[in-house]
Amino acid sequence: MKNRKKLLIVGGVAGGASCAARARRLSEDANIILFERGSHISFANCGLPYHIGKVIPRERSLYVASPDLFKRQLNVDVRTQNNVRYIDRKNKRIDVENLKTGEVYRENYDTLVLSPGAAPIKPDFKGIDLPGIFTLRTIPDMRKIIDWIKTRRVKKAAVIGGGFIGLEMTENLIIQGIDVSLIEMLPQVMPFLDPEISAFIHDHLKSKDISLCLESPVTGFRQKNNGMIEVMIESGKMVTADVVILAIGVRPEVELAKTAGLTVGSLGGILVDDQMRTSDENIFAVGDAVEVQNFVTAAQGLIPLAGPANRQGRIAADVILGNNRTSQPRFRGVQATSVCGVLGLTIAATGTSEKALAQLEKNEELKPYEKIYLTPNHHAGYYPGAKPMTIKLIFSKKTGQVLGAQAIGMEGVEKRIDVIAKAIQHNGTVFDLEESELCYAPQYGAAKDPVNLAGMIASNLMRGYTSIVHWEDLSESDAFLLDVRGPFEFKRGHVKNAVNIPLADLRKRMSELPRDREIWTYCYEGKRSYFALRILEQHGFRVENISGGYLIYLAVKQFKDI
Ligand code: FAD
Repeated sequence: MKNRKKLLIVGGVAGGASCAARARRLSEDANIILFERGSHISFANCGLPYHIGKVIPRERSLYVASPDLFKRQLNVDVRTQNNVRYIDRKNKRIDVENLKTGEVYRENYDTLVLSPGAAPIKPDFKGIDLPGIFTLRTIPDMRKIIDWIKTRRVKKAAVIGGGFIGLEMTENLIIQGIDVSLIEMLPQVMPFLDPEISAFIHDHLKSKDISLCLESPVTGFRQKNNGMIEVMIESGKMVTADVVILAIGVRPEVELAKTAGLTVGSLGGILVDDQMRTSDENIFAVGDAVEVQNFVTAAQGLIPLAGPANRQGRIAADVILGNNRTSQPRFRGVQATSVCGVLGLTIAATGTSEKALAQLEKNEELKPYEKIYLTPNHHAGYYPGAKPMTIKLIFSKKTGQVLGAQAIGMEGVEKRIDVIAKAIQHNGTVFDLEESELCYAPQYGAAKDPVNLAGMIASNLMRGYTSIVHWEDLSESDAFLLDVRGPFEFKRGHVKNAVNIPLADLRKRMSELPRDREIWTYCYEGKRSYFALRILEQHGFRVENISGGYLIYLAVKQFKDI
């Protein structure tokens, strides 16, 4: 046999299993050994909350591939319940503990790939180890939660952390008839989103009778005499629950790498180059344990998502065993393209947020940026079942380059974000979105798809056909506030000091408008007010459209006095 390279892989789930499978397809000769500390490899950790909620009825559906399958189909030697304890870089070998027998043995390597993932954060809170407090990462974690819910006949749950896993667990507890208190330290759930977009999630959660406790840092836990757990919050408030799910984030598992002297970045992840090579040329690292560069902002980050882990595992295998030396793949960085569903609401995002842009020190290239909001239907309005979604698009004011997008709604949200994600990866501009040719039939989309509309609105702005302002700027303005919605909409709620002239009456009531002051106009979501702007500007008025309309006003108001 030629080239019998020995490839050892630590971690047998997303990144590790992908790497092993790709490695075998590239080389029949390589000796590939996959070490996994747990009892399962290649399981669908993303599906765990849904088995708890019985949406995925059978546990075995979560087993994407078994050790036996890896052996039979891929000839990969899978060693589950084998913990890699030490890397001896000098002699290119690892120490492994067989957790079934206690035996410790050594295995040498030509190349080593680390995909140890990230562990749930479990702070040193008082009472953190009380029975009934769980984190969720593995199949055994999931079984424990299911067993607790069943045997304790759980009626009340406290979910701590409003990120992906927190929201998914909230959904899966609610659908089992369990009351949920969702406790979040920050003023918003889904912290990577801009706050006004999270506001829609808050409204949705409250509409589903979830008790949402924002700005509520947990300080500890106490067990009551009846076995229930009291979650103590900094404000002095207490939430009582039969079960607590701790979902406050994950931390890269880097102990092995650190002890081996591999370079770890300031954010706590293993540093790798764009071919997933660590500071040791014979050791690669992939997945949740590595720091990655943001494709848009070039900032380093920790992005624990399955897609990047899988792609990185594949890239590492290509670099290690691929024979096409002229065109080896390189990891392009992450855009943090992600989606999450909670009780019928879909939340998706890609690229950078306004919040992240504001935090960047060196963002001269990306500055100044602009944002627009729109709320189109997910398919043609005349076809039954059309549902609105709200999209926020962020782009460079200078070039129109798309920097990020966030969207929220009931249907078709992730499809639009996926299209925008691809545009971002190709340095696409708002003009590219405007001209994108996308699928259309009435039940799927619109002849002007939401992605086109986002591009058209932003392009109008770039070309000077419209001019926008934002609600955040209202308090510093003395503009005349014009609400062009219908009188009933106005009566249901409007912005203080706004004057209502419905769009249809605008031409005949122009004399009521000031010529010596700027006019800021709004409607429900920004479309009618844009039409109003076009009319008024052509009659010599100075007009700005307030992007996103009354809908975004209500969202911004959750966070800012305006
Ligand atoms: P993991 O998949 O965590 O695998 C690492 C493995 O390495 C672990 O099994 C661990 O036991 C093993 N290991 C660690 N150290 C050692 C050692 N020293 N020796 C032997 N074995 C070791 N991502 C999404 O994109 N979408 C989702 O919807 C989504 N949902 C999720 C839901 C849940 C409940 C969880 C927990 C995660 C979810 N994720 C989701 C995140 C996604 O699962 C991870 O980003 C991905 O699994 C990371 O892959 P990885 O290979 O880096 O780590």
